[in-house]
Amino acid sequence: MKKILITWWAWFIGSHLCRRLLNDWNEVYCLDNLFTWNKENIIDLINNPKFTFILHDVTQPFWGQFDEIYNLACPASPIHYQKNPVETIKTSVLWSINMLELALKTKAKILQASTSEIYWDPKIHPQVESYRWNVNPIWIRSCYDEWKRASETLFMDYHREHKVDIRIIRIFNTYGPAMNPNDWRVISNFIMQALKNEDITIYWDGTQTRSFQYVTDLVEVIIRMMNNNIWFIWPVNTWTDFEFTMNELAEIILKLIPESKSKIVYKPLPWDDPKQRKADNSLAKEKLWREPKIKLEEGLKKTIEYFKQYI
Ligand code: UDP
Repeated sequence: MKKILITWWAWFIGSHLCRRLLNDWNEVYCLDNLFTWNKENIIDLINNPKFTFILHDVTQPFWGQFDEIYNLACPASPIHYQKNPVETIKTSVLWSINMLELALKTKAKILQASTSEIYWDPKIHPQVESYRWNVNPIWIRSCYDEWKRASETLFMDYHREHKVDIRIIRIFNTYGPAMNPNDWRVISNFIMQALKNEDITIYWDGTQTRSFQYVTDLVEVIIRMMNNNIWFIWPVNTWTDFEFTMNELAEIILKLIPESKSKIVYKPLPWDDPKQRKADNSLAKEKLWREPKIKLEEGLKKTIEYFKQYI
């Protein structure tokens, strides 16, 4: 049994990671300032003796002895992180430093949840980890993209300078139950719109692409990454094999909700929105021996069932 800290955990990925680590008989401490989601994601865990929730202002240092630290993201939805851009970058950088200091002083292993956003609007396709990115430090997504890039630098430097045992994983678009229905991400938007018979809002002409992964596939990759002790220190893309246009995604969702009366409407593309995203998965396949188990339609069916409680 390990003693594990998950930070920013009430974010939906964190809640899945927490359940999985508890099922694997670990003692799990989850820390969050509940900025993006609420206690609904944790309510059923409160009575679990191996689970502890810590409400904490993530700009402030935190102390505790843990075997492993999973440092998850700040708000990942563009609408959320752009609402308080200064807060986004400030809290995220400060918190990464706090967590790296904790890992250094307590000799904990630490994993950073990075993101496909660091590739921003890539000029190569699919995106391989060694690609140096087509990026922009001054636009509206930069408060998120640039701190994630800075966090990778911090993690690598704590490793080089202080020998902290780090892992970095670059997470591509993830979906599944426990997502925030008001997140303004494409999957939550399309499903909620279809369930409520509202217009499905495709931005631009809908030919932009993303590759999506179901949350439990992501959790498996994250845990393998943390547990891999013959690892070399290098960021790894998570495994997302399938690339879809937003037009295709809307059609699949409408097919899965046949009773929906929603119509597709086209809206302007938000400023800064990348046109194409797909992970090169060679490294994850080679080092983490993992392929996604849940295909998009199957994952969407489970996600639709989850969202029905919000209509
Ligand atoms: N998108 C869309 N309609 C929506 C929400 C998003 O067409 O109602 C598009 C968005 O422009 C982007 C893609 O879906 O090209 C994925 O958006 P999301 O915010 O989910 O993820 P990210 O852009 O961070 O990858």
